[in-house]
Amino acid sequence: MLRPSLRRAPALLFLIALSVFAQTRDPLPVPDLPGYQTLKCDFHMHTVFSDGDVWPTIRVQEAWRDGLDVISITDHDDYHPKKEDIGADLARPYALAREMAAQSGILLVPGIEITKGNLHCNALFVKDFNVTVGLDLASALAKVKEQQPFVFWNHPGWRGRAEWYPVIAAAHKDGQIQGVELVNGLSFYDEAYPWVEEKQLAILADSDVHRLITDYAPRTRPVTLVFARSRDLDGVREALFARRTAAWMGGEIWGAEAHLKGLWEGAVRVENPEIYFTASRRMGLRLNNQSAIPFRLKVTGKPDWLQVRGGELRAETVTGLSLQAGKEAPSGRQKINLQVEVSNLHCGPGRNLTASIPLEIVIP
Ligand SMILES: [Zn+2]
Ligand SMILES: [Zn+2]
Repeated sequence: MLRPSLRRAPALLFLIALSVFAQTRDPLPVPDLPGYQTLKCDFHMHTVFSDGDVWPTIRVQEAWRDGLDVISITDHDDYHPKKEDIGADLARPYALAREMAAQSGILLVPGIEITKGNLHCNALFVKDFNVTVGLDLASALAKVKEQQPFVFWNHPGWRGRAEWYPVIAAAHKDGQIQGVELVNGLSFYDEAYPWVEEKQLAILADSDVHRLITDYAPRTRPVTLVFARSRDLDGVREALFARRTAAWMGGEIWGAEAHLKGLWEGAVRVENPEIYFTASRRMGLRLNNQSAIPFRLKVTGKPDWLQVRGGELRAETVTGLSLQAGKEAPSGRQKINLQVEVSNLHCGPGRNLTASIPLEIVIP
């Protein structure tokens, strides 16, 4: 490589500085729900304080750039491969990241990953980070309960299909577990899906990132959506305990029907609800998806004389569905409802959101 001449060095330094500091934040638009702010969160990530590769402040920078609102750094309580270099105090990552989080407007939740054999649980809103070290899972969950944390079961099926294991069942029965990672990284644990309703758990989707978050392509890191009354730690905590959450990964969202309905209605505007067909009886229905969530539509209800084609609504894009009125279509003005299944919004095992698009159609 050639060394830059002295004369060109200042310009080069300026360019380097620009590339470091001029990072932009992805707005990652997701609509609020009536009465609630939608917060984009990742409650599971690692740093050099366990088996991650980065310093805690990097997690804040990544989250800011990716458009998140809330993160928790959750290093393993019982796994510290870099202990010789930096010790094993689980309070350090939070302490080190806190100032940068405050400066960049990221809410930082104090957390740990309770790591016992194949069963891992994250505890959020902890006050004393080191109380579970060296304990078995049952004792660790009982011990941390004194701090009234929000606890969820991580990656339930990462070592083979999960069951509702006795140690989890006992902890849940005693009020020690309130949520489950339906999504961890790019894995979805379908065996855990029925437990969300049966056991009244909050749904989470987390990256569990160990290396750089850029291992995920842009906008593909898993995100937990939290529907909070306020954009602060109390708001996040209240929403988690109230189970107002959804899991978002790879264009799919799992959540309660009311929340998914709010996302759909807040995200998509019908640009031409009044449609005047021309003599060709062909028109486009323009749907403006203002959110970062793509939607897949399947038309499930429409008049027999109407043909509808298309249904992939890309993020932040206006998409046209092609409408064709048949010869038998009645002329004049009429109100119709397009019934659609939003196939990527899942409100329960085997159940997707359904929605209605009211239209006024005028046929010559
Ligand atoms: Zn884990
Ligand atoms: Zn982890």
